[in-house]
Parts: sequence; structure tokens; C-alpha cells
Amino acid sequence: MRCWIELSRKALIENYRIFERVSSPSELMPVIKSNAYGHGLKEVYAALCSVVAPTWLGVNYVEEAEELRSFGYQGSILVVGPVPQSLYEQAARARADIFIGDLFSLETWLQLPLKPKIHIKIDTGMSRQGFEPEMLPKILETLKPFKSDIVGLASHFANVEDVVELSYAHKQLERFEQGRKALDTAGLHIKTHIASSASTLLLEQAHFNITRVGISMFGLWPSQATRLSYLQTHDKLENLKPVLSWLTEVALTKTVREGDCIGYGCTYKAMKDMTIAVLPVGYYEGYPRIASGRGSYVLIKGKRCPIVGRICMNMMMVDISHLSKVQTGDRVTLIGSDGSETIDAETLGAWAETIHYEVLTCLNPRIPRKVLDD
Ligand SMILES: *Cc1c(COP(=O)(O)O)cnc(C)c1O
Repeated sequence: MRCWIELSRKALIENYRIFERVSSPSELMPVIKSNAYGHGLKEVYAALCSVVAPTWLGVNYVEEAEELRSFGYQGSILVVGPVPQSLYEQAARARADIFIGDLFSLETWLQLPLKPKIHIKIDTGMSRQGFEPEMLPKILETLKPFKSDIVGLASHFANVEDVVELSYAHKQLERFEQGRKALDTAGLHIKTHIASSASTLLLEQAHFNITRVGISMFGLWPSQATRLSYLQTHDKLENLKPVLSWLTEVALTKTVREGDCIGYGCTYKAMKDMTIAVLPVGYYEGYPRIASGRGSYVLIKGKRCPIVGRICMNMMMVDISHLSKVQTGDRVTLIGSDGSETIDAETLGAWAETIHYEVLTCLNPRIPRKVLDD
């Protein structure tokens, strides 16, 4: 591929240190699912674990847990995604914990000779995974003979990132407390956890024993609302540092005459003579097709170059009429900084009417990733 991703080890470690401090005394679980939020699982693992030793890592698939083991990771792993029952024993062999949050899965698990350790998931308001908290006393009774296989009680917030007003989260916390009480009553002393990035930043009372931090480990705020909420209660923002830059190079440049069309569908028509650069990146590589014609641009020589015409499968065209001496091979920034200009993943997400989570996780896994020391 003629584009590449650069990862800043320094930024990653600084973010980790921030969350270590913010979460303390809770344990910190970097969530590195979905190819480490598109950053590259292998590279992020290497960059992180060459410097720090996380007690926990969170992934989505059992296969990702196996990969982490193949890299030599010895700590605890939690698979946060739904695990097919046919993979439970595979999870146990990878020493990966799984969530159990419905009776059907619980029945299967109870009958297995080789059991992965579990975190009981309760649904406090997300309607995704989890038992109703009211069911807990009975479930804990069933689980009594398997005490040593139960590691945690967990839940997940539905509405922290998208709002400044956190009353729904507080309702969920109350439901979670109900679950924690059931543990006490059953005399079960296990880890409890509910917080992801936004709630780790905003709701100290939601930290409990483990914080599960995904997007912000990579230096990004979960949303503008989270930023604003944070500033309402703190003097200044935590200095999160984006870890990822996405770069390419100019494939060729060409002159376009007034009246010429650019790209499929002739959606762009040159109103004057222009110079454009063709870039070897399109939606296959992960640049959202919908982003063109919405104020979107790339950076070349520290200057904004608007995307013109539709984004193709493996190419896009940008206007370089205002620049001189751009040539084949010149460096192009798709996400990241060049000079005084920055395009962050959130901005690209806004152009594409989506969130930075989606932009990042859609970066093609085949794009080469390089870890830089700084
Ligand atoms: C993805 C995920 C997280 C991390 O969420 P961020 O908003 O990226 O911090 C935490 N917990 C669970 C269960 C998840 O699925």
C-alpha cells in the first residue's frame, strides 16, 4: 500500500500514565479491541508493553486474546464482545476471561469441563449484554460451587459520551450498586467494573476496581460533550496525545482546465484552471467516501488541500492550485499534523458524518504501521 500509519510510542505511554493516575487505585485495563482501534494490535501491544506492564488488556475476540498470548503477554485478558459458546474452551486455553450475561450462555458454561473465568455482566440500562440486576441473587446461588471461576461483576454505560447531563449514568450507577449489594449478600468478593473512557474521566464514583479505557488510551476524547463536561468540573483538560498519524504520498500531479470534470459522476467541475494531486488512498484503505465535498482536506507542505470530486476506491484528488512545486512522492497527511495545521480523527469523522471511533477502526488492517519512539 502507498499509505502508512505512524504511531507515537511516547504519546501512548503518556496517555497510559494519565489513566494510571486518574484511575488509581483501580486497576487500568487498556481496551485494544478492533485492531487496537485501528492502530494495529501487534504494534500497539509492542509499543505499550515494551515500557509498561498492564495488569489487564481488553479485546473483543477470543482470537485477539490468543494473539496477545502469542506475543508473550502474561497478564489478565477480558474478551468484552459476545463469545460463541463453541469458543468457550478456546478462551479457557488462552486464559481469557469472558462475560456471561444471559441464562443460555450460563447453562452451557456450567456444564463445561474446561471453563474460562467469567465476569458476570449485568444490564443497567444499555439493553445489550447482561442479566437484569434483579436476577443476580439467584444466579449467584447457582454459581456458588464455581466461586473460584468468577472474577468480576461488570456493566456498561449507555449515555455518557453523548451528553453533558449525566442523569442517565447516575441511574445506571444505582442499578449497578444493586448488583454490588447482591455480591455482598452472597459473600462474594470479586472485582466490579463499569467505566470506559468517558466515565473514567467524568465519574470518579464509577471507577470501582477496574477502568476499561479504549479511545482515550489512543489520545482522543470520547466526544466534545465529554470535553465540555470535563471542563465544567476541572480547571483544565488532561493532556491526551493522539497516537496515530495517517500518511500517504502524492502519486501524480496534473493540470485541469476550466470546465473540466473531476472524478466519478462529474460531481466537481473546475471553475478555473487548477492543479490537482492524485493520492493513492480511497475508501478501500479506509478514507470514508462520504467525506468528499464537505469541507474535507488533506495537508501537503503544511497547507490545506481540499478534496475535489468523489473519493474513489483507491484514489482521491485534491486541489493544489495554491501550492507550487508539489511533486510525485511528496508527503501527504490524512490524519495528523503538518506544520501548524492538524487534522484529527474527530474532524475526519465529522466530515464523514460519523465518529472518530468508526474512522479509526475502518483503517484497513493491511496498511503498514510503524512505531516511532517519540
Ligand atoms: C469498547 C469498550 C470499552 C472502551 O470504550 P471507550 O469508550 O473506547 O473507552 C469499555 N468497555 C466495553 C465493554 C467496551 O466494549
